[in-house]
Amino acid sequence: MKIINPATGAVVRDVPAASIEDVDQAVERAVRAFPAWAAVAPGDRARLLLRFAAEVDAHRAELEALSVQEAGHPVGLASWEAQHVRDVLQYFAGAPERLIGQQIPVAGGLAVTFHEPLGVIGIIVPWNYPMPIATWGYAPALAAGNCVVLKPAETTPLTALRLAELALAAGLPAGVFQVLPGEGPVAGARLVSHPDVAKINFTGSTAVGKKIMETCAGQVKRVTLELGGKSANIVFADADLDAAVASAPEAVFDNAGQDCCARSRLLVQRTVYDEFLARLEPAVAAWRVGDPTSAETQMGPLISAAQRERVASYVDEADVLMRGSAPTGDGFWYAPAVLAGDPSARSWREEIFGPVASVLPFDDEADAVRLANDSAYGLSGSVWTRDSGRALRMARAVRTGNLSVNSHSSVRYWTPFGGMKQSGLGRELGPDAPLSFTDVKTVYFAS
Ligand code: NAD
Repeated sequence: MKIINPATGAVVRDVPAASIEDVDQAVERAVRAFPAWAAVAPGDRARLLLRFAAEVDAHRAELEALSVQEAGHPVGLASWEAQHVRDVLQYFAGAPERLIGQQIPVAGGLAVTFHEPLGVIGIIVPWNYPMPIATWGYAPALAAGNCVVLKPAETTPLTALRLAELALAAGLPAGVFQVLPGEGPVAGARLVSHPDVAKINFTGSTAVGKKIMETCAGQVKRVTLELGGKSANIVFADADLDAAVASAPEAVFDNAGQDCCARSRLLVQRTVYDEFLARLEPAVAAWRVGDPTSAETQMGPLISAAQRERVASYVDEADVLMRGSAPTGDGFWYAPAVLAGDPSARSWREEIFGPVASVLPFDDEADAVRLANDSAYGLSGSVWTRDSGRALRMARAVRTGNLSVNSHSSVRYWTPFGGMKQSGLGRELGPDAPLSFTDVKTVYFAS
């Protein structure tokens, strides 16, 4: 696989793609490593994960540079990513000593529950935030005593390969955490169908997620799915409009819109609609798209030429209200766009995964809820209002797994994250994440 720097179009490195046999061998190594890893004392497993976090911390600059190269992420974002990986590892290092079962009253003996690790976990991730999303899977899975085989996306295997080396350097035993770059329909599909893989933790498109769920059903294989989104950013007339306008571009253009939580449907109450758009235009124009290695840059290129074509296909058929700017020349550049919303249009209903927002007015709370929920997806969203009662009603009525009020934040590693409806199944992160890599065993001891 040729790894291409999206900002220049130049080949960064050639990486061999794993074959089906490579996957089988990796799974076999993981199966062999599992009993000893599961038996490591909780405090020792915690220490190993903390050492892994320390290795990541010591190599942050290198990981950051790899992310800039493989994903075209601006340095500011890449730097956050490397720190985030360290923090997520540190957080889940606390889990091995806290996998606490229950003691339940029974007659004639003792009933207790154990959280048993599942065995070998297959983790399949996309290219949009390669390092963080992989870590949301492998860190709690390892903490719970499982072995992991991680398949990064075809375009972004470099950070994942380096993380596997850092894990070994930290002292994780061989076979406990392996990274296998490869193609989805080959290496990914084999991980999913392999009888010795106990669970698939998948992040990616809803279309592929559905296929994976189907294959897993044949073996009653456990599955967590983190899929697409088409999140709403709902601005009421009583909101702090300055704050809502200032943050609207970032809410959808961050990471060039290649963000499952991108607030790509902008709903603005009709009484302030014109004013909001008039204020949004300069904010869109001021959004800085350019060289990812510059600290000033807010948005880099799209991941590939194919992705740029896909994004353009939506914009080309829409009524474009505003357009930002982007460099020309080599690299997969695309200028941000704001479209006139049309609930029957593809651009309103489908996930574009590019720097494109569609804007539509609404009349009242009920109208806002109806429009926001009229989507197959339910991952994220924002509500802007100064009325706390309305904020609470909206927070309960909008059908998404994550919602922010007067903010656009979505992900904190210590709070649960995931989607409703076709945005996913199960939750990652937060205190319960390690439990999703275990099965509960109930044991009764007769006295
Ligand atoms: P994708 O579904 O095309 O690919 C994701 C991963 O699945 C890649 O590693 C790919 O190689 C692999 N894959 C592809 N076909 C496969 C198959 N048949 N069997 C097994 N594995 C296979 O998605 P993408 O284009 O890489 O990423 C973009 C998507 O990811 C968007 O829909 C986005 O919303 C979603 N996403 C969701 C979240 C979340 O947390 N909900 C986070 C980030 C991205």
